Amino acid sequence: MSAVPQVTLPGVVDQHVHLGLVDRGLLAGSAVAEVHDLGWDPREVRAWAAAPPPGVRVRFAGPFHTAPGGYPTGRTWAPEAAVRHVASVPEAGEAVADVVAAGGFAVKVALHAGMDLLPDDVLRALVGAAHAAGLPVLVHAEGAGQAARAIDAGADTLVHVPWTEALPAAVIARATRMTWISTLAIHDGPGGALDRALSNARRFVAAGGRLVYGTDMGNGPTPVGVNEREIELLGSVLTGEALRRAVLGPPEAPALTAPLPLPETASELIAWLRAATRLPLPPSESDRGETPPR
Ligand SMILES: [Zn+2]
Repeated sequence: MSAVPQVTLPGVVDQHVHLGLVDRGLLAGSAVAEVHDLGWDPREVRAWAAAPPPGVRVRFAGPFHTAPGGYPTGRTWAPEAAVRHVASVPEAGEAVADVVAAGGFAVKVALHAGMDLLPDDVLRALVGAAHAAGLPVLVHAEGAGQAARAIDAGADTLVHVPWTEALPAAVIARATRMTWISTLAIHDGPGGALDRALSNARRFVAAGGRLVYGTDMGNGPTPVGVNEREIELLGSVLTGEALRRAVLGPPEAPALTAPLPLPETASELIAWLRAATRLPLPPSESDRGETPPR
């Protein structure tokens, strides 16, 4: 027994990763307990979710849904099967049915003003089909007006805090039912994109929106594990319980233990996570002997 009083908290949940672009085995035993893969070949990522790094739960969206020629078509990092072109309203329904069949938890959509764009009717058809299937819609919105299009089409999540433009207050007011994923550390700072993202994030949170931790792990030289810079930047927007809720999983899933006190600021949370050790995993059903012998 340890003589030092401990605090037990859930593990880190990274709501934006690309497991196909990192050495995912490095996540085993880290403070990260759950990752959400937001864009890959659905067959590959499904196999990784079925045999994840020990101690890590993997949820996945499957492919990027985009216009023919839309982002990320042709990007060297994106395998062909990671991009689903949706050219019409009927194709939107078929694409969502394929996400359901693959076991995806969400429908990922890309709107990038620098490349071909889904028209509004196809975008709305994707949202409608996803919601009819009980799945949220997660949008990569980049360039003038694209965040507003996602918001007004009924999307549930922006996978990056908008960074290409300062959103008007009226647009932020229409977004407060959403979740925004932070990915603040992908921007070089200070200045420019990082300042725009931080300002949008602060105004979104002040208006009542939900901001959560996500790193875009695999986009550039991101750490595989806890991204301390991401927590630091998130900590300039959120503190205390709001910061812990943004970074860590639900309280009913305790995963980490480290000495008190309860971390309140970003620097305290980073130090606490460095000191934390994983709690033993709950026994699986087979370990409990509930699987009948064959
Ligand atoms: Zn991403």
